Amino acid sequence: MKQAGQIIRSYGRRFIVESGDRTYDCTSRGKRVDYACGDNVDITVLNNEQAVIEGTHDRHSLLYRQDDWRTKLIAANVTRIFFVTAAVPSPSEELLGRCLLAAEAADIEPIIVVNKSDLPETDAWLQKLQPYRALGYQLVTISAKQGADALRPLLHGNTSVLVGQSGMGKSTITNALLPEAAARVGEISEALDAGRHTTTHAALYHLDADSHLIDSPGLQEFGLSHIGATELAGLFPEMREFIGHCRFHNCTHRQEPDCALKQASKDGHIRPARLELLQKLVNQAINSK
Ligand code: GDP
Ligand code: ZN
Repeated sequence: MKQAGQIIRSYGRRFIVESGDRTYDCTSRGKRVDYACGDNVDITVLNNEQAVIEGTHDRHSLLYRQDDWRTKLIAANVTRIFFVTAAVPSPSEELLGRCLLAAEAADIEPIIVVNKSDLPETDAWLQKLQPYRALGYQLVTISAKQGADALRPLLHGNTSVLVGQSGMGKSTITNALLPEAAARVGEISEALDAGRHTTTHAALYHLDADSHLIDSPGLQEFGLSHIGATELAGLFPEMREFIGHCRFHNCTHRQEPDCALKQASKDGHIRPARLELLQKLVNQAINSK
């Protein structure tokens, strides 16, 4: 008999599915493994511990790992991405830009979390991030060492992921939000493991009945390689109004004459760093074909 559940752990080809008040150790029917943590699935229960995944329900969103998006699904049904950044160690604005694009492409709301507000270097970094606020992105400042409660209202009602360079404070925030999470992972993987070595690819934790946090070591950086060259400019909010005004309808906004985006950048409507990021990603998208 089929029943509905949700994938709360993924270990490559094996999954833990929560259904009702039980969890099942699952494999998928046949060769299909394109499931991700957060997926709502139908399972056939085999016994008290094991079940088979028959298929997924429609997904609100899907996030891919950087290296190979065809096989590396990481998280499904995420509604908010928290990009965790801090003045120390040296933050990358490009990585922030890429994260915002991945979020736009997946129709997920990104929130920029500036952590380590206790450090004096934070002010200068916050200044550099002001243009993102002007683009409509929400910025929150916290000191995870002192707590992460300022994030709770933003997490409420959402399935969230924390991403960002290592050293920015993701684990500190996760631990502040879910002190019991680390212990529970240990419990489940021990039960699943039964002597075998498994690596957790992603884990979903319940913050409350309507709010979930997906934690994945593989999600430091997003894959953008599934996005085509012509779709990229539309993912930059400040570029949207200029798209369609280039001389060539298939303008790639690189060497072409009379490019409306390049003109808008000269006129101060698009920051040069943002246009450069677009051009770099267009190059990558075209060269990877
Ligand atoms: P992750 O790699 O993103 O998971 O980062 P961690 O959570 O491991 O944090 C990296 C380092 O930053 C650790 O030494 C933390 O103690 C430190 N850290 C985290 N949050 C804060 C903060 O709010 N203020 C300061 N000063 N250090 C922090
Ligand atoms: Zn153009």
